[in-house]
Amino acid sequence: MNKPVILTGIRANGELHLGNFLGAILPMIELQKKYAGEYQLNMFVPDLHSFTTPIEHDKLYLQIVQNLRKYVAAGLNLDDEDTYIYRQSYVAAHSELTVILNNFVYYGELQRMTQFKEKSDGEKDTSISAGLYDYPVLMAADILLYGAEWVPVGEDQRQHIELTRDVAMRINNKFGENLLVVPAEWKKQLEFIGRDNGIRIRSLRNPTKKMSKSVEDPAGTILLSDEPAAAAKKIMSATTDSVGVIHYDMENQPGISNLLRILALLIGEPIEVVTKTWEGKTRYGDLKTAVANEVKVFLTSFQKKLDNVEEAELMRKLEASEFLMRDVALQRLYKVQQAIGLRP
Ligand code: ATP
Ligand code: MG
Repeated sequence: MNKPVILTGIRANGELHLGNFLGAILPMIELQKKYAGEYQLNMFVPDLHSFTTPIEHDKLYLQIVQNLRKYVAAGLNLDDEDTYIYRQSYVAAHSELTVILNNFVYYGELQRMTQFKEKSDGEKDTSISAGLYDYPVLMAADILLYGAEWVPVGEDQRQHIELTRDVAMRINNKFGENLLVVPAEWKKQLEFIGRDNGIRIRSLRNPTKKMSKSVEDPAGTILLSDEPAAAAKKIMSATTDSVGVIHYDMENQPGISNLLRILALLIGEPIEVVTKTWEGKTRYGDLKTAVANEVKVFLTSFQKKLDNVEEAELMRKLEASEFLMRDVALQRLYKVQQAIGLRP
């Protein structure tokens, strides 16, 4: 297990949506194909991250397995020997490293996190959990335990990756340069997944906001479980603008630009190519129809594959990965415990 590590996770706190698929799952599957044999791939479910926003606890366990099925339906190859899928709560070292890292991350740093600010905005102090506040530290532990240099995540996670780098460098400065692998900086992360910009799919209803699992926004969110025709309707009623001409301009035409982006990712073309086709056209309805059709085709095929996922095989891979990862994570944890004086 000496190959460089690529790692990503998706919380199991709700139904996965098109943003999760295009921003996190698809890049991972592309990397699995592109780097077969060269890299280790850790695709895990950060289930301990589930409680930072309200969830239905009695559905969580099944939702975790459902999410894993979706990775497979999306094309993740379980036979790949360098690929590991695991649940965070089944590898106790995540929690232990978090407790340690908490002492090397500062109050002010966590308060500056955009995700924390957004998710705690308007909430009473007594309803904002310490878990929400501490989320980025648990995420840093998720990454640092496996020495992952590459962490393909959506644009919304950029600040958390940067914090992970800061913490790793801080600890290395104090306790030894080779203790923790510092993840690559954001620009390099993007180069690695072959993109110029981070991926951020916007809400169809409110395109200044990202599509989210935890925000109550059914008309703005395409769920991977949406009935294809209903999803197509959501695209047809997406909020656009009154400019009247199609431009790829996230600032002034976020709704239209979001549609162009979804289209490009679904058909696997660079955004420049798609933009060239549509730039200057005036019939928004035509663009919507094109996107709606692609969404319908995509969901129909995805859902068919989802029905056919072999769950027994998935569970075998999951348990075998967890068995191995517990060992890998404990080894790194031990090194940290030693460095900070907890072990001889
Ligand atoms: P929540 O609202 O509960 O935070 P989420 O939709 O943001 O849910 P996460 O589990 O936080 O989902 O993130 C999982 C992965 O999906 C991350 O890599 C994240 O960057 C990516 N992701 C989430 N939303 C989007 C989006 N709208 N566009 C692109 N990528 C996204
Ligand atoms: Mg999120």
